[in-house]
Amino acid sequence: MSGTVYLVGAGPGAADLLTLRAARLLGEADVVLHDALVSTEVLALAAKARIYNVGKRASRPSVDQRFICRLLVRMGLRHGVVVRLKGGDPHLFGRATEEIDACRTAGIPVVTVPGISAGFAAAAALGTSLTARGVSRSVAFVTPAVARGAASDDHWADAAAAADTAVIYMGALNAERVQQALLARGTPASRPVALIENASGADERIVRGSLAELPALAATLGGGPAIMLVGEAIAEARAALAKADAA
Ligand code: SAH
Repeated sequence: MSGTVYLVGAGPGAADLLTLRAARLLGEADVVLHDALVSTEVLALAAKARIYNVGKRASRPSVDQRFICRLLVRMGLRHGVVVRLKGGDPHLFGRATEEIDACRTAGIPVVTVPGISAGFAAAAALGTSLTARGVSRSVAFVTPAVARGAASDDHWADAAAAADTAVIYMGALNAERVQQALLARGTPASRPVALIENASGADERIVRGSLAELPALAATLGGGPAIMLVGEAIAEARAALAKADAA
């Protein structure tokens, strides 16, 4: 009899941004396989589990995805409650489909549990909405990153430029390319941008400016995971106006 594999969103880092369901499953877990971006605070909840770090980070040597899928299946066949813990929400830029398929092919039941994606933690850090009446009615979640070995292209930028607000994952190391791709699609150089590093963590950092300044802003970051937000809805002046209205 196999167990069940739970693909669980760990949220952006702060343990109290886990869902209650995620916290309960961690407490019940026999095995936890986690990403690089999952905090020690969160892992501490998995008191009785054997814990495996199968983390990948851009630009560093990483664990092969096929290996992760095989390990997940092996654990699912041997243990009762297997938690595959993924940063943010597992359904966004988390390669969940490959892991779900691998488990289903092996006959192991899979349940997914949503989490707070980094983009939402980034918006919370700024204290601004990704949407704004009369300003932003559409939000695109995009990444310029492609799988290792895959040819890179700029299709992501079509969606980013068409949306009122773009939430860009895994882009901070390629800020100049992001900037050029958006400018080439007619996004004005004056469009407000914000970069949020380690959103929700104790070491959270925010830098803001305009699309014209994006590479310079990215260069000031410390190398932690970072989200880039692009859009009029996140303009600092707008946040100030909203505060003045509320006062
Ligand atoms: N599934 C995750 C995203 C995985 S891709 C989610 O829903 O959040 C990894 C990228 O997410 C990082 O390169 C970075 O762009 C972003 N990210 C993850 N955690 C972050 C954090 N705490 N602060 C800022 N960006 C973060």
